[in-house]
Amino acid sequence: MSNDASTPTDFEVVILGAGMSGLCMAIQLQRAGIADFVIVEKSAGIGGTWWDNRYPGAQVDVPAPAYSFSFAPNPHWTHRFADAPEIQRYQQRLAESHGLLQHLRLGLGITEARFDADAGRWRLRLDNGDALSARFFVCSTGALSVGRWPDIPGLADFQGQLLHSARWPADADLAGQRIGVIGTGSTAAQLVPALAPVAARLTVFQRTANWVLPRVDRRYGGLDRWLGRVPGYAPLARRFWVQVMEWGRRGFDEGTLARRLLIAIANAHRRRLVPDPALREGLAPSYPVGCKRIIYSNDYYRALGRPQSELVTAGITRITARGVLTDDGREHELDTLVCATGYDTLHPLSGIRIEGQGGWLLSEAWRDGANAYLGITVAGFPNLFLMLGPNTATGHTSTLLYIEPQADHAIACMQRVRREGRRWVSVRADVAAAHDAAQQQRLATSVWSRCRSWYRAENGRIVAIWPGFTAEYVRAVRRPDPASYELG
Ligand code: NAP
Repeated sequence: MSNDASTPTDFEVVILGAGMSGLCMAIQLQRAGIADFVIVEKSAGIGGTWWDNRYPGAQVDVPAPAYSFSFAPNPHWTHRFADAPEIQRYQQRLAESHGLLQHLRLGLGITEARFDADAGRWRLRLDNGDALSARFFVCSTGALSVGRWPDIPGLADFQGQLLHSARWPADADLAGQRIGVIGTGSTAAQLVPALAPVAARLTVFQRTANWVLPRVDRRYGGLDRWLGRVPGYAPLARRFWVQVMEWGRRGFDEGTLARRLLIAIANAHRRRLVPDPALREGLAPSYPVGCKRIIYSNDYYRALGRPQSELVTAGITRITARGVLTDDGREHELDTLVCATGYDTLHPLSGIRIEGQGGWLLSEAWRDGANAYLGITVAGFPNLFLMLGPNTATGHTSTLLYIEPQADHAIACMQRVRREGRRWVSVRADVAAAHDAAQQQRLATSVWSRCRSWYRAENGRIVAIWPGFTAEYVRAVRRPDPASYELG
């Protein structure tokens, strides 16, 4: 869509991204009485990662009652662990019931953003050449939006079908094929059980064996849906799951009962589901539990044990025209090679040139790794708010619990600028630096410092994960400390 004379170009708020965090921000803005906003979304529909990720088997691994906003319980969930289309439908209903469709501009990206300090406005350039401006700019693109291809030589030489899990083609038909999957993370653990029954042969290339816990899923029946409509039940169910998961957070700390339980359950799960000793040994993790995202699955191990499946633990030498050559000299011939190799989480917003005060570029500010005060604001970038920014990912609970207070925090900052008749608000550089130093110090001795993962950069800096309990984050974020911010 291109701007014409009747399309507004100047807004109080521009929100980039129509996933969970963008939708939440839009709804909270409306509640705060700010209706002059637009949501710019690169994809053709609403949902963010749940729109983009259409690989077979895509599901959430957090119980659905906690994967709904506190202000929008959903009595329609069909399973405790909802699948991607069901979550996308929840998001669509959310957008429709809150009148957000009229605020959406789909199929558009932002390429440049420059803060005009004199006017106290962000000047934005879209990928169709159009310009927008806004007093406040909210980046709600999420950590998991840009798929990452593996850095393996020869990838471009492969003559078969090459797919990435994060951009699954709607018409992909892999039935009867020799399929290879690179990666053994949360995505692969969902894809592999979906592909195994249709593949002629399924080869899974594992670099690291991961910790797998049972997925205590169940179908929600009529009684659940009836209860879901009983006033007070949905918040109670949500609170229950939030508390259960918050308790599970203890499992990331050494010496806790929760940790001993996690390890014992995962080991028993593997013993039960992998009768073949050689396969079981290949699947035994060698890094501390929790360092990478824990996988919840009842069918991943079973899928690997099928006669037509093979787990390859030899390293990959290179990709060839016909398949994958491994370090033991074997060439694995394939019709389709699926890269379930995750996302670029280390360079958030790198597709946009973001210029703050005094021409300072976000890419420069983040040269040694992305960081933001409470994951939300960046010194030198006034009136810019990040949703699910650096160090706000969680390995133990629902990301929605982090999104809601982030929106509260950002809106409180916006309201202060509006109320006090100022042009901008910016986190104080000393406050942001002290926050970052304390956080990195805490993370340096945490379980997340003890392996390679998408939480951690090559230089050892942990850029993605929040080190503490969710309650601690919510307390720190919900109401911004006025002394942490300066106004201009
Ligand atoms: P990921 O956790 O980053 O896993 C990527 C996998 O690819 C890893 O097994 C990695 O091995 C492997 N890999 C990467 N480069 C490789 C290379 N050059 N050679 C061989 N192997 C390579 O990505 P993901 O599985 O897509 O999951 C990302 C995150 O998305 C999850 O942690 C989770 O937060 C979210 N997610 C959630 C769900 C859900 O159920 N809610 C489902 C899917 C994804 P190494 O471990 O050795 O690096």
